[in-house]
Amino acid sequence: MGDDHESALAEKPLEFLTSVANSGGSCDGQAIVPDGDRYRCWCSCGEWNIEAPTQAEGLRLARLHTSSAGARP
Ligand SMILES: [Zn+2]
Repeated sequence: MGDDHESALAEKPLEFLTSVANSGGSCDGQAIVPDGDRYRCWCSCGEWNIEAPTQAEGLRLARLHTSSAGARP
């Protein structure tokens, strides 16, 4: 029984990531992380996932994504 509690704790970060990924189309957050000589960009809605040459470009595209997504019902 105690082992079950420990494994549940260990899986919490994964559950958190899954809950963000499954938040169902809302643009709650965007991530822009370096990946080699590029930046990998994605959104919590799961419908936006791109690569950008610079972090600034990734941020710009993220803002475009959230503004266009917010304007659509
Ligand atoms: Zn989004």
